[in-house]
Amino acid sequence: MPAPLIVAVAPGSPAALAGLTPGDEVARLNGQVPRDVIEWKLLTDEPELELDVRRGGMELVVDVSKRDGEPLGVEVQSAVFDRVRTCDNHCEFCFIYQLPKGMRRSLYLKDDDYRLSFLYGNFTTLTRFTEADLERVVTERLSPLNVSIHATDPEIRSRMLRNPRGGMSLRWLRALLDHGIEVRGQIVVCPGVNDGAVLDDTMAGILDRFPDLASVAVVPLGLSKFNTESAMRLHTAAEAMSVVAAVEDWQDVFASVLGRRLVHLADEYYLMAGRPFPPAAAYDGFTMHEDGIGMARTFELEFLGESAAATGTRSGFFAAVDLPANPAAYTGLRATGHGCSNDGGGVDRAAPVTLGPARGAPIGVLSGEMGARVIGPLIDQLGRGDVRVIAVRNEFFGGNTAVTGLLTGADLCRVLAQEPPRHRYLLPGVCLSDDQRFLDGLTVADLPRPVEIVATDGLALRAALREGARR
Ligand code: SF4
Repeated sequence: MPAPLIVAVAPGSPAALAGLTPGDEVARLNGQVPRDVIEWKLLTDEPELELDVRRGGMELVVDVSKRDGEPLGVEVQSAVFDRVRTCDNHCEFCFIYQLPKGMRRSLYLKDDDYRLSFLYGNFTTLTRFTEADLERVVTERLSPLNVSIHATDPEIRSRMLRNPRGGMSLRWLRALLDHGIEVRGQIVVCPGVNDGAVLDDTMAGILDRFPDLASVAVVPLGLSKFNTESAMRLHTAAEAMSVVAAVEDWQDVFASVLGRRLVHLADEYYLMAGRPFPPAAAYDGFTMHEDGIGMARTFELEFLGESAAATGTRSGFFAAVDLPANPAAYTGLRATGHGCSNDGGGVDRAAPVTLGPARGAPIGVLSGEMGARVIGPLIDQLGRGDVRVIAVRNEFFGGNTAVTGLLTGADLCRVLAQEPPRHRYLLPGVCLSDDQRFLDGLTVADLPRPVEIVATDGLALRAALREGARR
């Protein structure tokens, strides 16, 4: 098993004072071999540490004394030191099968690892979950976890996952809930497969068997032009309307039986169905914001100044880790997204970077086609002739990939090349991974016009536009 590799040491930290340096490999921590950063964090919380370190072919022992719970002060190269558990499903709707060839290798990794669910919010189907995993999750309180449900009927779930274990693995979901683990569910709706009567049956199954789920996100199948599965197709507007109607009916049932709506629809459904987004109060605190649920509504509240803080800021485990590991090396499409690879796009909060702003120039707000339908009316309300929304069609992936988080450098190059020079161009940070690359590997430096990266929330866009008005 590869040992944790130290890639950074915080100056003045206990690690620095003890002489640990980047490049050190930690073979053992107090005699134990940590499997991942979860164990690493537990072990390094101890006040007295003995680290067996490999450095330049030498083996040495480093002792660290610190306060109980004080961060050690190192960043390690990855979050999982043993192998990421890969998925053994073959879902027809998997977005990884719909990626073109030649992208970064990490994008093709199908993970189904409960640890990545806990650490990054990836979805797991539990088809590879074991008794030992349950024991660890319960003992170490690895909560919350995200679980892909898709259908509660065992036969349909097995068929959708193309895995005979798909039918039985929801027993682990019941076990997790029985042990008080918070679980958020997700249903990817594939028209003609698990909508209609199957969706109703799944809702009834959730009410009957899993009413203690924290929430359930209902998201539409994402299709790229590279899809080869003939049964997978886009929703028609009528099908989208039926899904909205069915889920809203079930929200009423859940609300009357459980006292909460439990299940929520991705924003895309309301756009596809041509229906207004539900009021903010209907989202039960926006707990599924990073699944693309309620993003349009929170963006509006933020943009109009009705919300003082941006919604969806990353929290949880990594808020407690001294220096977070970089997930980009082994997670799916988005660093903060969902390993189970058919989702509505995640949220990255890149720090604003200004590249050559032009004083007093007109402003173009770049967005995916879906986002443009949300942002456009908000910008119209400003009555500012100097601001326009530029909807960027995703030709790289094609299909229905209209969310801003899947925009590629190639699409932005194509669109920006047609736009006038010396304007200000604002681009949401959600397009970029933590290493500041688009999904196709390009960077902002490759774009034909300078762009400013703005955090993906209404407050940040409002502030950026206000700055434009002052220039
Ligand atoms: S959609 Fe998720 S569970 Fe299905 S094959 Fe892809 S990664 Fe595996």
